[in-house]
Amino acid sequence: MRKRELNLFKKLLNRRLEELLMEAERTKDQVKETEEPSPDPLDQASNVFDRDFLLRLRDRERKLMLKIKEALERIENGTFGICEVCGQNLSQKRLRSSPMAILCI
Ligand SMILES: [Zn+2]
Repeated sequence: MRKRELNLFKKLLNRRLEELLMEAERTKDQVKETEEPSPDPLDQASNVFDRDFLLRLRDRERKLMLKIKEALERIENGTFGICEVCGQNLSQKRLRSSPMAILCI
């Protein structure tokens, strides 16, 4: 892949990472809110529900951030866009729709 294309993907991935970091920050605050004790049992129940939902969301954000970081590392070490199983180049189309892809199919 040409350097210019790699730089483009790098920019794309970094922007995605920044967005996720901001979202993660928001989620963290929301989790904190659900941890504040409430005297109302109904509130308590919905807080448990919300917290569960938010923690799952946070888990997903974390996994996605890890994938983006791995893709950025692949750009650095020159293996970006190469299928991990068969070693072929991933199509531009595939990478554009999913820059974290590591498999050709
Ligand atoms: Zn493959």
